[in-house]
Amino acid sequence: TKANAAEPNYVISTDATYAPFDFQDKNNEYVGIDQDILKEVAKRNHFTYTLKPMSFNAAAQMVANGQADGIIAGMAITDERKQVYDVSDPYYKTGVAWITKKGSKIKSLSELKGKTVALKSGTAASNYGLSLQKKYGFKVKYFNDTDTMYNDVVNGNSAATFEDMPVIQYAIKNGLDLEVKNPNNPGNAGGYGFFVKKGQNPQLIADFNKTLKEMKADGSYQKIVDKYLKSDQ
Ligand code: GLN
Repeated sequence: TKANAAEPNYVISTDATYAPFDFQDKNNEYVGIDQDILKEVAKRNHFTYTLKPMSFNAAAQMVANGQADGIIAGMAITDERKQVYDVSDPYYKTGVAWITKKGSKIKSLSELKGKTVALKSGTAASNYGLSLQKKYGFKVKYFNDTDTMYNDVVNGNSAATFEDMPVIQYAIKNGLDLEVKNPNNPGNAGGYGFFVKKGQNPQLIADFNKTLKEMKADGSYQKIVDKYLKSDQ
């Protein structure tokens, strides 16, 4: 789009691989529930943005360091993060799943004793996993992206992993050979939000909240969710 002096341009960071919220389609365009909502917020509030896709950890740091104005990345609203960021109203429900290879004999967290658990750096799910480490006696191994982390479990290098329920469920539905052990009992249930650095860009948060409310009322929010969660054959 042509630069317009009247329209602010924001730098927004995101996770390059976090389907169905943030990922690249066949044409290498960044799409997903987050990306479609963000696009609509920008359109309805007359701003443009430069998207910076990268690892989740780096994307979150960019906003904390003031190098980006905001982040949308399937990022859970936590008390810890509220110390560093200001956050929008929640736009999607989440919670943490614990996951093994499909058909694994492991039935309970206590069976992870001495085994390796794959975690994604800087995530709420990794903090949740770490909070259980002492009790269950597993080792941890860190990854920067969800797909590589999943593969470590598929390959049998790690015995289990922790990831958000909607994200793992989408991957399994699309053929990933993993299994959720606590489908009805997610850990740390909460919601995803759009984040800015604390005290910065209050207008972006106000715009996001206003448009989210409108989109829920006019059906466009549900249309976006259905596009990603109901479209697969
Ligand atoms: N939902 C997780 C969190 O909030 C992970 C986000 C991500 O990996 N993109 O930390």
